This record gives sequence, C-alpha cells and structure tokens, in this order.
Amino acid sequence: MKSLEERIIKDGEIKDGSVLKVDGFLNHRIDIGLLQDIGTEFYRLFKDSGVTKIITIEASGIGIACIAAQYFNVPVVFAKKSRTSNLTGEVYSGQIYSFTHQCFTDIYIKKDYLSRDDRILIIDDFLARGGALDGLIRIVDDSGAHLVGAGIVIEKAFQGGGDIIRSRGIRVESLAIVESVENGRIVFRDQ
Ligand code: 5GP
Repeated sequence: MKSLEERIIKDGEIKDGSVLKVDGFLNHRIDIGLLQDIGTEFYRLFKDSGVTKIITIEASGIGIACIAAQYFNVPVVFAKKSRTSNLTGEVYSGQIYSFTHQCFTDIYIKKDYLSRDDRILIIDDFLARGGALDGLIRIVDDSGAHLVGAGIVIEKAFQGGGDIIRSRGIRVESLAIVESVENGRIVFRDQ
C-alpha cells in the first residue's frame, strides 16, 4: 500500500536497528483517515473469504481491527493480556513472546466468543518474529474455527516471522513489508 509506505518513510523512526516506531500515526496518535484506507484494503483482500469475526490482540491491534471490521460488518474479539476479574468462565489461553516488552505474556480469549462455525481473520499492527500471530493462530485452532488468514499493517520481513507462517500454508497479507533497514534507510519489498 503505497500511501502507507510513504507515511512510514515520512513519520516512522528506526530504533536500535530493528524496532520501527510509528507512534505519530498508528501506535499512540492514530490517523483515522489512514486506518480507514487500511481497513478498506483489508476488505478488498479478504472480502470473498466469508469472514465472520476479526481477532486481534491488545492493545495496538484493537483500533485497527475495529475500523477494518466496519467494512466486513463483523464483530472484533481481542485477546486480553491479563486475566482480570471481568474475564469469567472458560477461556482459550496461550503464551506469546512479546517482541516489544522482551518477555513472555499470557493471552486469553473467552471460549463463548469463538465458535467452530466462525471464519476468522486475524489483524495486527506488526509482524516481526511471528510470536504474537502464532499465539493467536493456536487459539483459533483450539477453538475449531476456520482461519481465513492474517492481515498485517507492517511486516518486518528481515525478522522472518511472516515467511515461517506462510510456509505453514497460512495466508498472510501485509500492507507494507520492510525488507531491510540499511544505514537507517527503510527498504520495502516490491508487492
Ligand atoms: P512478533 O510477535 O511478530 O515478534 O511481534 C509482533 C508484535 O510485537 C506486534 O503485536 C507489535 O505490537 C510488536 N512489534 C514488533 N515489532 C515492532 C516494531 O518494530 N514496532 C512496534 N511499534 N511494535 C512492534
């Protein structure tokens, strides 16, 4: 998605060689016009997949998933990262390694909110080593629902997660794929 690549070049910052900071439009201040374009693009890619539910993970995935869900007209379920007293009843759970926090985190989705009849689209902001996406895929598998694929806003291909997950036959559509960072310059994969 050309406009997204241009925005990353204009407002993104590379930290420590591999972390892309996009706080100005995606992760802290959110550009809703851009999110609408992102939602429209996910809809174009997955509109024929019979999506019945979008799944994401808190916190940064939620806004993106909700705007995309308006185009699909389906509910969003987000995996919670803590088991608060609000989360009652049986849950699907998993453990993921958090790239940004550099530690293992448990994730939970209430069993009532996933059904075997669901056709699930997973949406997230970033795909790096694939831990977060893999954790969500395992929960979808446990529920018996059908995974139609994953929609990712920014994939960092040099961290390998996308290729590993695609090699398992899972459809992963990333709107901007960062192939490499060379001397602080972001190089995108031609799509
Ligand atoms: P993975 O689990 O694929 O290694 O990393 C994906 C998760 O880590 C995403 O949900 C995202 O929140 C976070 N993440 C990974 N890389 C980056 C990055 O470069 N920038 C930001 N802002 N978040 C990232």
